[in-house]
Amino acid sequence: MDFSWSEEQLEYRRAVIEFAQGELNSGLRNRDRECEFSRQNWEKCAEFGILGLAVPEELGGTDSDILTTMLVMEGLGYGCRDNGLVFALNAQMWSVQMPIVNFGTPEQKQRFLPGLCKGKLIGAHGMTEPGSGSDAYSLRTRAARVDGGYSLTGSKMFVTSAPVCDLAVVFATVDPSKGRWGITAFIVERGTPGFDVGGDMEKMGLRTAPLGELVLQDCFVPDRNRLGPEGTGISIFNSSMEWERSCILASHVGAMEYQLEKAVQYARDRRQFGQPIGKFQSVSNRIADMKVRLETARLMLYKVAWLKKMNRPATMEAAIAKLYLSECFVQSSMDAIGVHGGYGYMVESEVERDLRDAIGGTIYSGTSDIQKTIIACLLGL
Ligand SMILES: Cc1cc2nc3c(=O)[nH]c(=O)nc-3n(C[C@H](O)[C@H](O)[C@H](O)COP(=O)(O)OP(=O)(O)OC[C@H]3O[C@@H](n4cnc5c(N)ncnc54)[C@H](O)[C@@H]3O)c2cc1C
Repeated sequence: MDFSWSEEQLEYRRAVIEFAQGELNSGLRNRDRECEFSRQNWEKCAEFGILGLAVPEELGGTDSDILTTMLVMEGLGYGCRDNGLVFALNAQMWSVQMPIVNFGTPEQKQRFLPGLCKGKLIGAHGMTEPGSGSDAYSLRTRAARVDGGYSLTGSKMFVTSAPVCDLAVVFATVDPSKGRWGITAFIVERGTPGFDVGGDMEKMGLRTAPLGELVLQDCFVPDRNRLGPEGTGISIFNSSMEWERSCILASHVGAMEYQLEKAVQYARDRRQFGQPIGKFQSVSNRIADMKVRLETARLMLYKVAWLKKMNRPATMEAAIAKLYLSECFVQSSMDAIGVHGGYGYMVESEVERDLRDAIGGTIYSGTSDIQKTIIACLLGL
């Protein structure tokens, strides 16, 4: 087992940290308050090569292997304080681009991936509906066969980037009597008659990532925009979820490292009862817990990334990574606030924002309850 990184990989991580610290953080407190998405920062990330990391070169990406990609995303999470932007980038990479890379026709790949990688197109992933969240397979959006394609009717909610998207991977059923085996994936393009996006919903955290509704009303989607054969939507969705659960939280590992460094510094500088607060075991224990969580989360991330690199099944490890990393980030954010005391509770400290952002991670891509259900199920329960 070799845990070392090459000098080239480490240089890539250093470069992304420098880029993120220099380019992505200014004005963040205001954007967070105003729920403002920065298209400019999105494009800067695309230009740096973030969106194209896991996409083949001939389709506009850089074809970095998945472990390198995780190291770079970790660096992005360390350098970029805007968890909302990082989350939205990740959502597109794993649940829009990856299904097109893996299941798209050559024509679909050429038509959409270069624009997505370059930041010219923004993609969304529409599965959740008003009546189906955790029970995703019970969706009701209907895709009726019509001449030359399908007519889609239904609505999707809580969709990341919906308000700003240029295209969406949407799941609908071609035959409700077939249950989950009728579910089919489509790429719906903005501007298609009958396709509307709802306005930005105000959220507790991840406020710089726009999120909203996709509305389909007799929306004609041509055959050439069906992603994969009819009835394969569930395989496409499950494959996307495995990628997303494995990779979407890599940036949290970087964010936890940043939190830890800030907490250590504060515990050294802040004095109470005539000594640095870090000398109190209650405070240093919190910091030790943060370090243990950071290192164990990192190991889990690298393990699942390695499995993906080896093309091995990773359903169990993806569920564990999603569950563990998201819960670790919540707990570390709580500890970071605890170490900073009253100051940590103030927006000005920029410590409390992580907690608001972290809670989203325990819900999207399947709640923590659902990850535990998957783990238990795979253990034969
Ligand atoms: C920030 C954010 C971004 C999102 N982005 C997207 C997106 O881009 N595209 C998209 O399609 N969706 C997106 N979602 C939606 C997300 O996938 C759903 O919110 C999530 O799957 C939960 O579904 P729900 O909200 O309907 O909750 P419900 O399914 O109604 O769950 C409510 C509660 O019941 C629990 N529960 C439900 N069923 C079970 C069970 N079988 N066992 C144990 N507990 C259970 C849940 O854990 C939860 O605590 C996003 C959500 C958030 C918060």
